[in-house]
Amino acid sequence: MPKEEKTTVVHDGQNRDGHNDDRYDAQRIESKWSARWQQDSSLYAAEPHSTRQKYYVLEMLPYPSGALHMGHVRNYAIGDALARYMWMNGYNVLHPMGWDSFGLPAENAAIQNNTPPREWTLHNIAAMKRQMSRLGFAYDWSREVTTCMPEYYRWNQWFFIKLFEKGLAYRKKSLVNWCPKCCTVLANEQVIDGRCWRHEDTLVEQRELEQWFLRITNYAEELLGDLDRLPHWPEKVRTMQRNWIGRSEGTLVEFKIDSATDPAHSTIGVFTTRVDTAYGATSLQLAPQHPLVARLTRNNDLLRVEVDKLIAEQRKAREAGDIGEIEKHGVNTGRYAINPYNGEKIPIWVANYVLMDYGTGAIGSVPAHDERDYEFAKKYKLEIRLVILPQNSDPEETAVEPRLPFTTKEGTLVNSGPFSGLDCKAAIKAMSDHAEKNGFGKATITYRLKDWGISRQRYWGTPIPMLYCEKDGIVAVPEKDLPVILPENVDITLTGGSPLGRVPEFVNATCPKCGGPARRETDTMDTFVDSSWYFYRYTDARNDQAPFDRGKASYWFGEHGIDQYIGGVEHAILHLIYSRFWTKFMRDMGLIKNDEPVERLFTQGMIIKGGAKMSKSLGNVVSPDEMVERYGADSTRTYTLFATSPDRELEWQDEGVEGIERFLSRVYRFAVRNTRPEDPAWSAAVPENLSPPIRALQRKLHQTIKRVSDDFQGRWHFNTSISAIMELVNELYAAESRGGGASVGAGDSPAQVVPLSLLREVQRTLALLLAPFAPYLAHELWEMLGEKASLLRAPWPKYDPALAKEEEVEIPVQINGKLRSRIIVPADAPDDSVSVRAQSDEKIATMIAGKRIVKVIVVSGKLVNIVVR
Ligand SMILES: [Zn+2]
Ligand SMILES: [Zn+2]
Repeated sequence: MPKEEKTTVVHDGQNRDGHNDDRYDAQRIESKWSARWQQDSSLYAAEPHSTRQKYYVLEMLPYPSGALHMGHVRNYAIGDALARYMWMNGYNVLHPMGWDSFGLPAENAAIQNNTPPREWTLHNIAAMKRQMSRLGFAYDWSREVTTCMPEYYRWNQWFFIKLFEKGLAYRKKSLVNWCPKCCTVLANEQVIDGRCWRHEDTLVEQRELEQWFLRITNYAEELLGDLDRLPHWPEKVRTMQRNWIGRSEGTLVEFKIDSATDPAHSTIGVFTTRVDTAYGATSLQLAPQHPLVARLTRNNDLLRVEVDKLIAEQRKAREAGDIGEIEKHGVNTGRYAINPYNGEKIPIWVANYVLMDYGTGAIGSVPAHDERDYEFAKKYKLEIRLVILPQNSDPEETAVEPRLPFTTKEGTLVNSGPFSGLDCKAAIKAMSDHAEKNGFGKATITYRLKDWGISRQRYWGTPIPMLYCEKDGIVAVPEKDLPVILPENVDITLTGGSPLGRVPEFVNATCPKCGGPARRETDTMDTFVDSSWYFYRYTDARNDQAPFDRGKASYWFGEHGIDQYIGGVEHAILHLIYSRFWTKFMRDMGLIKNDEPVERLFTQGMIIKGGAKMSKSLGNVVSPDEMVERYGADSTRTYTLFATSPDRELEWQDEGVEGIERFLSRVYRFAVRNTRPEDPAWSAAVPENLSPPIRALQRKLHQTIKRVSDDFQGRWHFNTSISAIMELVNELYAAESRGGGASVGAGDSPAQVVPLSLLREVQRTLALLLAPFAPYLAHELWEMLGEKASLLRAPWPKYDPALAKEEEVEIPVQINGKLRSRIIVPADAPDDSVSVRAQSDEKIATMIAGKRIVKVIVVSGKLVNIVVR
């Protein structure tokens, strides 16, 4: 942060007269420009056709909660800086904004405040739009997308029907959270500590309901493989997606349930990546939610109580996010399964560390060769049987008993019937083949990724456009009847079933096939459907014939997708996997050409205060409105970019915003004193022969342009960009205090006076460099400088490498007082770097090789003497 300049304002007549024309009044400047910008609705409009290169920059659209928080401001400040920079670089920029406006909070607010969700939502949108406008974000509002409006969600319905026609949307039974008091389904967020959010005394139950799913697993392989084609995504995001998709190669083995204990002769499928350890399986472990468990507990209350405990433990661990570290518990069902490899009877257990959403929800437990199985077996005293020995380098030597559990694949099978003696990798192949030949299993690939359950038994979402006819079964609503409008005036405060199910005008419909009565689907869609394709809609937001025009989408998405997408890392998985899936589906439909929606992804860091995430309960929330009121929009935005690099966590400091305001104020006051647009010398060319201090200012100018431009092209370290601009401003003040300001009287040395033409160039550049960060002040400066063209489209400044180059001097280098070489170093290079340069000079290095350096004497800018022995 630059120091406040010394307040020797001797040249400054205005202050002494009591005028405050040179005071930086952010509110005055910002409201003046805000009003002007609002006059021109096409100011930030993207051109539909252009000879200029396109650039699509996008920030993730917000949920309209009612007020922007600082995290939003940071996200949008990054995108806005980039959009403005690209405009200035001559691109045709698309920079839109919209509202992810369906979802649960609107319903909760409706229940709490008795306001209809639609009204609440639209009110919030208006408020947040005002905030965005006050902050000066440059959005093309003619393309605004509001996902809760029928103009938008009709296309969700249209896509759903296409998915249904392609067999990619289907119904199956699935578990939901059910509150027996509300008699309704709860979203995961409404389950707190296993209890209903409205009924703290009521445990939430799991119920099976028919639900709609999208077959995202059809694209699992492509979703995984294409991650390698996204080099401009953060590695951590790609890793998270890889783990989420969770591909693993292994073997599926069917264990028969012992017929003495199970007359149904059913089997339990087990997926394992280590079939080579099959002879070491000493029990079979089921996830508590495994379908067989439900069957076994039906007439066994004791077992059911135990299983319910395991379920509760698992849920708790999931909520705490440490399911991997769960304290392992289990219960023996008293039943047995047959290991198909050796015909052995092994007990069937239910365990809390086995997850239904991994593999088949059942594992063959091999305590000797698996960490978790080992821990479990120790606790419940289950048999631990060694079937792999470490591989010996010397085959003659007897194998060493390994320390258990021994989990690597670098081993040889023992106690494994005909497979004993094989190494693990060969055994996996042989034992998979054996299972396939004998009809009890096969080599297979599984994914952790499951099909996407999109049914919500809620009101505030897109109605799923399906009908149920007694004669024809499931029938899609014909395209011409879209949209299926979400009815208004639905009382969602009532309990009992899906809110739409209580609206007879909605539910009762006519079958388009037979004309008979039909019942309308009352589930609505997961709101992630809305955000899966919204960025295509921006390319053609008012289209009422199609979700978007193919030509328009293909112009903006090109071959690789959105040029730059910016948002929080919390969306690394769901939103960014669902939208990748949707893109691939649309490509397969022939709607678009790109395989991926986003070419470059940037995830900004979180904002914290007092070491913690901002939250109402901690009382550490900083309101953007309050900051804007105190310091102005420019200072608030610039601070979010200056405090640290945008990918890092930002610890909020109000004093930091104040510091930025002080810096902007310095820039402004300098301009008040040093602009002379009426003077003919103002617009003249900068003279060639400048005195050294003036030349230093010019050099700093070109170095600053280079640094800021490099940061935009590179890693977006806007904090260093802004520091560079601060340094340039310091140079201006130094020149002014030396008597070089334009307002200097005739008595000063003419050699030190900064030519008006250079003063103009420096300040003009300053306005251009500040435009992406502090657009209000930049526009004000631009006008003060007498510039007439629009700053938004003014060309980004270019630096002259020759002018940016440091001046160099030649320095003689002595060894023990004798001249031995000469080196060229920057004129202002610090002594220690001159010393290093001297010693690494080729001639010098040869001569001092093997000698002891006693001392290096550097006479700044003049001489280096190396004393050796
Ligand atoms: Zn309840
Ligand atoms: Zn029918």
